[in-house]
Amino acid sequence: MALSAASEENSEPLPSAAPRVPPPVSPADLRTLAESAAALLEDADAADVIAWARREFGSGLVVASSMADTHLVHLAQRVVPGIDVLFLDTGYHFAETIGTRDAVATVYDVNVVTMTPHQTVAEQALTYGPHLYQRDPDRCCALRKVEPLERGLAPYRAWITGMRREDAPTRAGMRVVEYDKARNKITVAPLARWTQQDVDAYVTRHQVLVNPLLYDGYTSVGCAPCTRRPSPGADPRSGRWVGSSKTECGLRQQPGGSER
Ligand code: SF4
Repeated sequence: MALSAASEENSEPLPSAAPRVPPPVSPADLRTLAESAAALLEDADAADVIAWARREFGSGLVVASSMADTHLVHLAQRVVPGIDVLFLDTGYHFAETIGTRDAVATVYDVNVVTMTPHQTVAEQALTYGPHLYQRDPDRCCALRKVEPLERGLAPYRAWITGMRREDAPTRAGMRVVEYDKARNKITVAPLARWTQQDVDAYVTRHQVLVNPLLYDGYTSVGCAPCTRRPSPGADPRSGRWVGSSKTECGLRQQPGGSER
């Protein structure tokens, strides 16, 4: 688990014939690995965290991206060219977000894997009634985000997320590497320590693709029915699920294994 500086020079392409189903690993082994890596990598550069994950998990590593922004995907493909990127197409995304997904697939050196829910929006309305996101957003997120994520993550041992500690109080305690007990997988959060200023500096420095909604007053982008422009100076995530106590999709678990 020794660290080395990640760069475009030492990055390597994914093996073309790599096995897609991860071999069994005991929960105890994964938890031990996560705890030691979290301590080792707490102060590491984000690229070094991704390089560690690449060495540890090989092709069993995927980036999860909502395409609300693309700096994490940009960074990941610099370290691991050709890396898989998991995108959940809920059927409720802004056109700008789908356009960002398509641009990422075209411009970046990645393999975008798009997962869709079992039901279309219309089919879900027939089963549960219209506008489920208004009446029961947790159920809607479970059907359109959580279940597709579980299916999408199944072939992988570890997933990289762009979540940051300053995103929300619920994320303040997250570690750079965590054991995901519910899924028996490893969650890697290379940007956990990043501030918004760090993100902005990276975007400017590398001229990364930007979801146009971020230029239109949105500071946190999710599904269109559940996303509003926050008031000037308000919490950047205050535009999500306005009028509801809901603050998370249910994709992330709390440290120790309980779902958030
Ligand atoms: S964010 Fe809203 S529309 Fe999207 S899955 Fe969750 S409740 Fe449904």
